[in-house]
Amino acid sequence: MSDPEPSEGVDPVGTARVALVTGGSGGIGRATAVALGQHGHRVAVGYRRDRESAEKAAAEIDGMAVELDVTEPDSVDAAFSGVEEALGPVEILVNNAGITADGLILRMSDDQWRDVLSTNLDGAFHATRRASATMLRRRFGRIVNVGSVVGSTGAAGQANYAAAKAGLIGLTRSVARELASRGVTCNLVAPGPISTAMTDALTEKQLGELVGIVPVGRMGTAEEVARVIAFLCSDAASYVTGAVVPVDGGASMGH
Ligand code: NDP
Repeated sequence: MSDPEPSEGVDPVGTARVALVTGGSGGIGRATAVALGQHGHRVAVGYRRDRESAEKAAAEIDGMAVELDVTEPDSVDAAFSGVEEALGPVEILVNNAGITADGLILRMSDDQWRDVLSTNLDGAFHATRRASATMLRRRFGRIVNVGSVVGSTGAAGQANYAAAKAGLIGLTRSVARELASRGVTCNLVAPGPISTAMTDALTEKQLGELVGIVPVGRMGTAEEVARVIAFLCSDAASYVTGAVVPVDGGASMGH
């Protein structure tokens, strides 16, 4: 396995590296994979079910699609091994895979709680643990967790999702502290309402309420989140770690 060659013309992004994006078949993950590819990185696009979307995204950036269920440590391990064999050691990890299963606390089932926690929080733990040994050895790494404004503000009907996203903040800051001295950064982006399949499921009324709290006055796009993630993954972001970076049109100002 050879080190990635620095690619030309990508400054201030810096060296071309191998990246793995979980949930790369969905809206924000797909846009992130494409942005990282455009920055010159070699990208593995993770998917759980939607292989076609992941392969389409991978084809756009000359990357690869890789099957990975973040809730299963064995699946995560197999995916990393496949990427290492095909592209080289993973130096950029974007923990983006996520689901919602909304419901009021009074009626929330154990399955709703566990499914959301195990995908959004356990999933990031599994992938970060698998990635960290290599990053420590190489004395370089970029980990970006995709949280949500809801992780700080809470949201009625989303106790499971908000708890998972709040947990990701603690995970991010702890990993940042553990790995900082070895050139590995760990940050979290906290998107506000973004137009993807996840928000397509909402009613007009719910969307109106969401946009109502956004000073910019509209939903964000997956690409607007992806650009911030790609920056945090770049060499240029070497002094940014443990940060919670809102990408929310101003929605969480003051929180
Ligand atoms: P999408 O529904 O478009 O994408 C979700 C992605 O997660 C899909 O690629 C899906 O894969 C993947 N996924 C789900 N479960 C698993 C699993 N067990 N293992 C691996 N992958 C899995 O949603 P978004 O793009 O909107 O969401 C991406 C992230 O952004 C999530 O973490 C979400 O919580 C966060 N976010 C989104 C916001 C929004 O408004 N859209 C706001 C704030 C945060 P597949 O389809 O292949 O099964």
